Amino acid sequence: MLMDIKKIPAYEMITCEKIEEVDSTAYLLRHNKTHARIVVLENKDDNKVFDIGFRTPPTDSTGVPHIIEHTVLCGSKKFPVKDPFAEMDKGSLNTFLNAMTYPDKTVYPVASVNDKDFRNLMDVYLDAVFFPNIYKEEKIFRQEGWHYEMEDKDGELTYNGVVFNEMKGAFSAPDEHFEKLIQETLFPDTTYGVVSGGDPAVIPDLKWEDYLDFHRRYYHPSNSYIYLYGNMDFEEKLNWIDEEYLTKFDYLEVDSAIREQKAFGEMREAEGFYPIPVGEDTEGKTYLAYAGVCGTTLDANLYQAFQVLEYALVEAVGAPIKEALVKAGIGTEIDGSYNEPFLQPYFTISAKNARDDQRGEFIKTIRETLTELAENGINKRSLKAALNAMEFQFREADFGRFPKGLMYGLGIYDSWLYDDRKPFIHLHLNETFRYLREQIETDYFENLIRTYLLDNPHSAFVTLRPKPGMATEIEEAEKKRLKDHLDLLSDEEKETIVRETKELKTYQEEPSTPEEMATIPMLGREDIGKKSRPVVFEERWIDSNKTIFNNVFTNGISYLKFSFDISDLEPYAHYIGLMADVLGAMDTDTHDKLELSNELLLHAGGYNVVTTSYVHEKIEENCQRIELGTKVLYDETKTMMGLLDEIVRQTHLSDTERLKEIIAERRSSRQAALPSAGHNTAINRGLSYFRDSARWGEELKGLSYYDFLCEVDDHFDDYKDNLVEVLTWLRDVIFTRDRLLINIISTEEGYEVFEKVATDFIGGLPAYSPVTPAKHKVERWNDLYKRTDGKPASDGQDAGAPSLKYEIRPIPKNEGITTAGNVQFVARVGNFKKEGIAYHGSFRVVKTILSYEYLWNEVRVKGGAYGVMCAFSHTGNGFMVSYRDPHLRETVDIYKTVSEYLRGFDVEERDMVKFIIGTIRTMDAPLTPRAEGGRSFDHYMNGITNDRLQQTRDEVLSTTKEDIRRTAEMIDAVLADEYICVVGSEARVNECEDMFDSIRQLQ
Ligand SMILES: [Zn+2]
Repeated sequence: MLMDIKKIPAYEMITCEKIEEVDSTAYLLRHNKTHARIVVLENKDDNKVFDIGFRTPPTDSTGVPHIIEHTVLCGSKKFPVKDPFAEMDKGSLNTFLNAMTYPDKTVYPVASVNDKDFRNLMDVYLDAVFFPNIYKEEKIFRQEGWHYEMEDKDGELTYNGVVFNEMKGAFSAPDEHFEKLIQETLFPDTTYGVVSGGDPAVIPDLKWEDYLDFHRRYYHPSNSYIYLYGNMDFEEKLNWIDEEYLTKFDYLEVDSAIREQKAFGEMREAEGFYPIPVGEDTEGKTYLAYAGVCGTTLDANLYQAFQVLEYALVEAVGAPIKEALVKAGIGTEIDGSYNEPFLQPYFTISAKNARDDQRGEFIKTIRETLTELAENGINKRSLKAALNAMEFQFREADFGRFPKGLMYGLGIYDSWLYDDRKPFIHLHLNETFRYLREQIETDYFENLIRTYLLDNPHSAFVTLRPKPGMATEIEEAEKKRLKDHLDLLSDEEKETIVRETKELKTYQEEPSTPEEMATIPMLGREDIGKKSRPVVFEERWIDSNKTIFNNVFTNGISYLKFSFDISDLEPYAHYIGLMADVLGAMDTDTHDKLELSNELLLHAGGYNVVTTSYVHEKIEENCQRIELGTKVLYDETKTMMGLLDEIVRQTHLSDTERLKEIIAERRSSRQAALPSAGHNTAINRGLSYFRDSARWGEELKGLSYYDFLCEVDDHFDDYKDNLVEVLTWLRDVIFTRDRLLINIISTEEGYEVFEKVATDFIGGLPAYSPVTPAKHKVERWNDLYKRTDGKPASDGQDAGAPSLKYEIRPIPKNEGITTAGNVQFVARVGNFKKEGIAYHGSFRVVKTILSYEYLWNEVRVKGGAYGVMCAFSHTGNGFMVSYRDPHLRETVDIYKTVSEYLRGFDVEERDMVKFIIGTIRTMDAPLTPRAEGGRSFDHYMNGITNDRLQQTRDEVLSTTKEDIRRTAEMIDAVLADEYICVVGSEARVNECEDMFDSIRQLQ
């Protein structure tokens, strides 16, 4: 069905074309009156997407575009509630709802399968951006941006604000400082040289009037980019957008064009610092970057070519630049990145944790390697592998929880923002891929190296050094600024601040009125489906190996998983964690690591090894597994199985030089990940205090594993022989048929192909493990998941087991874990089943209520934390955790009041429906084929049946106020054991020393 332009008289059609790659008809339109730009992608996808974006180039680092992004979502003309965003998130069936600030644009995307819901979401977002309440209510700016806070006239003066705290959290990580320094250096004269999210040191410079001016200037239809995607009545939607919003404005000349940074005469150098704790050694912690601007994002070939180069030069295991830097001993983590959402994208090669005296060698090594590649050619198989991976990804269009229509839209902005006539150049990929494939045979890629990486004067060499106590310095500077300000204040002015602090608190505590709430459009109970999404699986046998088959339409792709039981091997957990990190990253008898990595991408869409835990509901036992996973086109299954066989059986585990490199690299990436995902660190660590499966998780991949990596890295020579001995032994023990369970997600056709070729792989594995899996426990799992014929070959529990040089250390309870940052992640965890409380569907509804209501208000809105989460699972585990939280003790105190809040819980029927819809939304989100199959497999392993799922859904749908009040007991049970784990700033954790049994550093 083609759109009829005559039926949308308010618009002019500029172009209309088929885009085969995304199976859509694409229209570029212009709104006649305001010149608003519109792109429509018409296709059969029911997961509809709407996005409105504005070009919002900031000129300073006050974070003004970011604060606008937060605040326009705090109430508008039609929807005058305090937080329509949270209202829509908890009460709609949206499949995506968020807003994002980029260096030069701000976008407001929503998605939904339900048509009525989709309309509601569009309405709320359009009203928010065009008619926000920010002009009427200054407190919105103060709450979300920044404000002075003072409890009484002689009290301490402080700053607070959601964005202020969010960015403080962001700047706790060295990466944020690194990125900032690189961009400042490459783009000193343009919008890319400032921090659009806001630098906490600069945010308090922002004045209310300037902030409003920014909105006035840029949030106008004439500066807007509207995107509609999916299967819907476009004529109706476009007419409605015109009548309801666009036509209320006149054309406005808006100068928001993104200026180009003039190239430099020669490479520039820059130096900066990032915080590490006081007293920490600075040796070997310098970050180095070699960066160059690569033409323009409007060159579609270049845009893809640099993503190919990113892999071939740096990212591939054993890629030449990475290899050269690693061999030279420079840094522990080498990264390449092509940064594309910019008019002028740039390419970076970086080394983390280098020594300061290696700066010269870093540049020399990179330039020599690049020169060598430019002269003698890049490995063609690497280029092909990268192209192949990109094509596979694009065809699979699996972006996890992000709807593909959303991702296409974001790709469109990458060119549309800089050229009104070119929104689709990054979607026409067949042509680009064909072109680049041809160019592999020429010297095209080598010339790109010359032009953009070797002879490019618009480039930079950046050094970021660790500075002990810099966090304290920043805090001191902030305190001094506040004190200087305080000294200038008259008594009267102080009283004003005290009054405003109180007024803001009152404003935040006062709920929106029922009349205001009634403006938020809502679905009814009749809009919610009654039936739970079924689990799809069949148990089949390939030879005598159980195979779980999830018959799902996958567009010609098989998702394969080979899952090996390791439940009896806990003393070796760290070594198994390491096994997962090294398989596929080392040489084998047949290929060196680079060739292997190329082969894997030439024949498959991906490959991974993970360790995971399943907890069976019925037998209440957990089962630990190491899993090799891959995704392949059906006709590549055989080749890929051969590669898996090679990885399992031929990996050179005794290559200690390579082992050392991998250990250093994994240590470095975890060192960054553990504090930045501090909420996960705190929850997982907390759960490990009392749950076997979580303790395993800590040992296989958590903080406990990280401690192991640090120890063996620091004393590698002492450990290396033992590491090789244990890994080699483990390989023989783990990869056997009696431990194997297979999972395949595909159609029947894919299954048939797999069945024919799988026997070679399976047959190549030894039948029995030389170690008997730990008696009764595994037998019970055997009853459930494995064949029952045959007996293990050996009954010696530890036949030939090597002794361990590094033994697992017990995890202390109730820890305060300190980082260099200045925010907290505060977790309380526990188990309600232990206290005799059975799981009930209303626990899912209470999660929605707490996340969007009580905890949201108390911890985020009033407390200034960037986020707060909770969950209560069928295993009985429950947690509450804050994210980038300025507080610690106060947050714990709030958790203690949750059950009291629930006991007094009382809302209107309308609100109850809203919470139920918000809960169902998370259960009904559309799944990609991989996710749908994966969900079924997980449920199978955890013993969750269709009946069970239906029961939970029924309970969710029928949840009443009384049910919610009853959940107070569940919360009490979770808190009963008083388990706490906090990841946070040294100062704050030490201040609350009394709350912890132990305090340790995370470094
Ligand atoms: Zn934000």
